[in-house]
Parts: sequence; structure tokens; C-alpha cells
Amino acid sequence: MKILNKKNKTSIDKATILSKALPFMQRYARKNITIKFGGAAMGEVSLSSSFAKDIVLLKQVGINPIVVHGGGPKIRKMLDKLKVKTDFVNGLRVTDKKTMDIVEMVLSGSINKEIVMEINREGGRAIGLSGKDGLLAETKKIKSQLKYKSKDLGFVGEPTNINSQLLNWFLDSHFVPVISPIGFDKNFDSLNINADTMSGKVSSSVLSERLILLTDVDGVLDKKGKLISELSLVEAKNLIKNGTISGGMIPKVETCIKAVQNGVKAAVILNGKIPHALLLEIFTERGVGTLITK
Ligand code: ADP
Ligand code: MG
Repeated sequence: MKILNKKNKTSIDKATILSKALPFMQRYARKNITIKFGGAAMGEVSLSSSFAKDIVLLKQVGINPIVVHGGGPKIRKMLDKLKVKTDFVNGLRVTDKKTMDIVEMVLSGSINKEIVMEINREGGRAIGLSGKDGLLAETKKIKSQLKYKSKDLGFVGEPTNINSQLLNWFLDSHFVPVISPIGFDKNFDSLNINADTMSGKVSSSVLSERLILLTDVDGVLDKKGKLISELSLVEAKNLIKNGTISGGMIPKVETCIKAVQNGVKAAVILNGKIPHALLLEIFTERGVGTLITK
């Protein structure tokens, strides 16, 4: 009796891998997972489609993903195309009214709908929201950066309150919320929010089991460029203080620290350029990026 030919063997290997995902599916069933899809990781078509497939798979097995996206490179391109000149103060873009209009158009219009349709194409049901829809993200201008060398940074803010009732309504349904980082202030003006900051506030507002920040590097790297696979809150703070963490990694790590302090079980920073990075993180014992926990 011939039981195992080569083809059978591959099929059995596949079934074994699937079976190994069961404990993780059980662990995360009906739990919320907030995912930030980063500017740099978003660029490639094949990666967006693998990301969308992973999101649909999560929802299919009873996990509740929430997507928050960024959009840096695309905003820059559009500002150049429309020949809108912007000032930079200490590396931060001054967002005047004209710039804000374009930022909102690119984030809530173009990028948000692209991600929504990628997920829909893979068989999911995504719903695009900006912080303005259903008054999702109440936001205030960032005070500490409001004046630098007597320059106003303009329409830049951080979320102060998330309408979690609205989010929970979607999470209890078969819809996957896809959120662009635009908020509204007390005058109902639009404010631009750092997407990392937005994802952190969203993740704690619905008490996520995990906050996952997808970016273009493997995670937090040490002074020698080696990946740090786990960080406590104190260790993470020290790496910012001593300058090991700089630039765009600062808001990410600060977001992770805050989210964990506010009840999110764990936060992870990992490379979104790895195909199926999300599945690797959620369905295997040891993820591939940097895990930040209490
Ligand atoms: P995203 O578009 O995903 O928000 P950012 O460019 O804002 O990406 O932030 C990620 C960048 O942070 C990395 O590409 C890297 O250049 C920079 N960075 C600074 N310090 C570190 C560090 N210690 N470990 C990893 N990346 C770092
Ligand atoms: Mg960034």
C-alpha cells in the first residue's frame, strides 16, 4: 500500500502548518488587533495585496483587525506636483491651510480608498473612515510644537478622544475599519495627525490585544544596527533618552509605550516589507520584530 508520495507529503506539511495556527487563533479569537500600515511599507503593489490578504484572513478566523494608515511619500509627491511650497521648522513640515487640504485629499481620499479596495478585492468588507467620520477622532493642536522660533506649525494635532462606540459597532460586525490620520478640532477644522500616534490612541480606546506598527525596518535596532527582539517600557524609554532611537522611530516607540501603559497587552514594531508579516507575528510563537511589553 502506497501511502506517502511526494505530493501527499507536501499536502500533509501544509495541513500540519495550518494545524499549528489553531492555538493562536483560539488565543486571539474575538480580540481586537490594531495595525498601522506605514508610509514606507505601503509603496509596493504586491505588498499591499499580501497585507490585504492577511487582514481578510484575520477577520475570517474571528479576530478583529483595525487598520490605521500613514502616507508620507505620497503627500510629498502630490505637494511637488501641485507646486505647493512648504516650510520646514526643525525637520517638521509647517502645515498651512493649502497644505492641509492636499494632505487630507491624499490621506482620506486616495490612500484610504486604495487600502479599502485592496481589502474588498480579497473578499473582505472594509469601511474607510477619517477621524472626522462619526466624529471619530477629537484632536487638539500640538502645543509644545505650536511655536518654534515664533513659527506656528499649523494644522498639526494629536487625538484627545476616540469615539470607541463607533469603532466597536464596526468591530462587532463583519466590517474592517480603515482609518486615515485626520482629526477635527473644537472649531471643526481638520488637523493632520502622525499615523503612529493615531494608531496608538485607537488601539487603547478599544483595548487591543496587540498594536502592530508595520514599517520599513526590522524593528528597533541597537547602536550596532542589530535587531532588539524585546523591550520593557523602561528599556524603551532609555533608548530614546540615549539617542539610539531617533527620527521617525521616536513617535513609534513613544506610541508603543503609551499604548501598553493604557491597557494594550503588547505592542510590536516590525518590517512590513516581509511578505505576510502580520501572519508571522500573530500565528507563530516568536514574532519577527521588536515586542514592547510591561
Ligand atoms: P514610517 O513611514 O513607517 O512611519 P519612519 O521613517 O517614520 O517610517 O520611521 C522609521 C525609521 O526610523 C527607520 O527607517 C529608521 O531610519 C529610523 N530609525 C531611527 N532610529 C532607529 C532605530 N534605533 N531602529 C530602527 N530604526 C530607526
Ligand atoms: Mg513615520
